[in-house]
Amino acid sequence: MARCPFCYCKINHLYIEVIESVYKLKLVNGRLETSEKVCDDSLVAAIVCPRCLKKLPLNYYEAGEFLKGKITLARVSSCTFKNDFAVRRGKVYRIRGEREVEGEKTALLLLEKIEDETVAAIVKASVA
Ligand SMILES: [Zn+2]
Repeated sequence: MARCPFCYCKINHLYIEVIESVYKLKLVNGRLETSEKVCDDSLVAAIVCPRCLKKLPLNYYEAGEFLKGKITLARVSSCTFKNDFAVRRGKVYRIRGEREVEGEKTALLLLEKIEDETVAAIVKASVA
């Protein structure tokens, strides 16, 4: 199950903040003017932990992977590393990238679970 990287609660759903409409803001004769709608589709503003209400640095599609347990967000200090792999709580992940967190100095790692048990066992053995 997905786990929040901030409050560490197990979560089986997320909150999603959505912007219903976006308008163009421009200068007209030196004054700010809001003009035509830029888009009608809802825009995802943030994916939020339902327990601690902190914004998770994920996009809409990653939110699905996160809930499925395919990817996770982790602090660097909670992992051990081997090349492009990270081991955390006994599980092996490929490092997909780093994500900045609003109001925090250290970024979170975006980790992708290794499904191949052979690869996972080799990586685990090499960091032990
Ligand atoms: Zn949380």
